[in-house]
Amino acid sequence: MLAPEEIGAPVEGMRLLVVSTPVGPLGRGRGGGVEHTGAMIVAGLLSRGHAVTVLAAEGSQLPPACAAARLWCEPGAPQPSWQHGPREAPVQIPADGLLPRLWQRALEQQSCFDLILNLSYDWLPFWLSCFTTTPLAHLVSMGSVALAMDEVIEAVAHWRPGRLAFHTASQAADFRLPTPPRLVGNGFDLDRYQPPPAAAVQPALGWAGRIAPEKGLEDAARVAARLGLPLRVWGLREDGAYAEVVERAVPPGTIDWRGFLPTDRFQAELGLCRVFLNTPKWNEAFGNVVVEAMACGVPIAAYARGGPGELVLEGHNGALAAPDDLQALEAAVRRAAVLDRSACRRWAEQHHGPAVFTQRIEAWLHAVLAEG
Ligand code: UDP
Repeated sequence: MLAPEEIGAPVEGMRLLVVSTPVGPLGRGRGGGVEHTGAMIVAGLLSRGHAVTVLAAEGSQLPPACAAARLWCEPGAPQPSWQHGPREAPVQIPADGLLPRLWQRALEQQSCFDLILNLSYDWLPFWLSCFTTTPLAHLVSMGSVALAMDEVIEAVAHWRPGRLAFHTASQAADFRLPTPPRLVGNGFDLDRYQPPPAAAVQPALGWAGRIAPEKGLEDAARVAARLGLPLRVWGLREDGAYAEVVERAVPPGTIDWRGFLPTDRFQAELGLCRVFLNTPKWNEAFGNVVVEAMACGVPIAAYARGGPGELVLEGHNGALAAPDDLQALEAAVRRAAVLDRSACRRWAEQHHGPAVFTQRIEAWLHAVLAEG
């Protein structure tokens, strides 16, 4: 165990412990958007002179922008994702679980830090909130997916509402909160996303995300088939059986599986699409891929549901369709296809650049510290 003086507090700034998701090691896509968000937060806070330690699953890798962070890893069985169980599911922790190991280490080391930031959507860290001696803040990464999680999140909200932050208003509206939520949106290192020249854009649609039922890939595939355009799909194949069902539902060749790519390759391919589809079946908390596509100059056709419903401004950076309405989605793709691609990029720059996101996170963490 490290003594507090070994952590090395900066003269100014906070000593932060960022506890990552227990669903798997960082760098392989299992954590979905949380991995990206965590990396942006860590890089942003480091750039502001804070000392950051990341606590994550064994085998995790931090991106180069986070090289100045200390990485602590713990072994253990990954935690099942809450969104894949029934709403009534009990709290479950597997034998040899990673989640309790992460939090045991966080609690053992808490006196070395000014603040602990939890990025995982799990019952245990929320429940621990009022028992830590170092303030524990939570960035809630999903909307309501299970009653036990609603209960524990709402309990923190009633005890210390300032300890919670959400990505979007639609996400926060899933919970019964006693005060208006703190919204932090999300941030992207926009220099890493470059719109290609207009002549390079190809007659193809794009879709990205974990290949899992709550992401609604089947609707995007059906609309691509109706329009006679290929659908390029990027993302981790989280549910192989679901992927096969989706593929069988459309004519062969409709889906062009591109796999899970590192950001640099992902953005290079993404920018070539005419329109990017986002078709969540759940209350998507934010929808990173929507802003990433915009950053590459790609207009969006999305369901008016959850975060993407807030991020897409009809006629400006994309077009919205009534949720689960394939005809409306097809019409939205046609409207989005003729939009000014540079306006999409500009919108991403104005609202989701790294500096503005870091400011929102830092302001929140300062407020948590001030409240104690
Ligand atoms: N992603 C990636 N490579 C790919 C496809 C996706 O790195 O080939 C990343 C993408 O950049 C995004 C994340 O996967 O940050 C998915 O996040 P999102 O918020 O869209 O959905 P989530 O998986 O969190 O539900």
